[in-house]
Amino acid sequence: MTLQELRKRPHWSFSSLNSLLNICSLQWYFQKIAKLVPTHTSVNLVAGSVYHRTLDQVFMARKLAVPFSLEEAQEMITQDWRRSSAEENILYGKLDADGVEKQGRGLIKVAYETIDDTEKVIEVGEVFCVPIVHQGKFLSKPLVGEFDLVVEKEGKPLVIDWKTAATRWAKTKAEKSLQATAYSMAYQQKYGINPAVRFDVAVKNKTPVFESHLTTRTPASWELLGALAAKAESIVKNELFYPSLESFACNGCAFQSACKEWGGAVVCAKAA
Ligand code: SF4
Repeated sequence: MTLQELRKRPHWSFSSLNSLLNICSLQWYFQKIAKLVPTHTSVNLVAGSVYHRTLDQVFMARKLAVPFSLEEAQEMITQDWRRSSAEENILYGKLDADGVEKQGRGLIKVAYETIDDTEKVIEVGEVFCVPIVHQGKFLSKPLVGEFDLVVEKEGKPLVIDWKTAATRWAKTKAEKSLQATAYSMAYQQKYGINPAVRFDVAVKNKTPVFESHLTTRTPASWELLGALAAKAESIVKNELFYPSLESFACNGCAFQSACKEWGGAVVCAKAA
């Protein structure tokens, strides 16, 4: 099944859990339950999708042993960005559309030039749908998602997630990542192997840099994920949604008007 087909059934994804538990439950409510139309799309979301689609092609070509040059990859990201940015109502930040295009070409360049030839591509864009277990029972909704890339490294599987970031990651970020917990659990359930997870991050410095962050998880981490998902289900069932007034997400939030209506002008003063 494709990711789109899997997403048609009730499910949890890492991003949905993260958004509800760690970013802003009210924003999650507006998007997932009230299904409000967002006022705009974040430039990071659109540019990030374009970056992912381009790397998909780069690594698919490697898997099939088909030549795919850096120049072709840069042309692909350029054309995809121009097409995608024309279709969306984008909220831009410091860079305009031309600046984002140039930045995207630079990010692909550092990602392409740091590919490790000793890593054998096993799968690109591998979807998963696995149960979430809490206190010995399955939760009502499974975990659905996609591994960006799975490679064989030194005889073992390694799950890789591609990221772009405004700044370099803190050393502890990968260790704390709920996404790594979700992906290692999903791989373990599919194949009976607990893989390492690596975040390959292209950082949007003036001259882009590339960094990798490797991490591993234990079954205790998966129990924590189960407990958090159970808590998320409880939040939804009891409609415990509220604004996160200090959320970093306020500035770019596409539901600011609805948020103000929910709590009056005080709510979202930071976002205004
Ligand atoms: S503006 Fe901030 S507090 Fe309000 S919904 Fe958006 S992220 Fe949440």
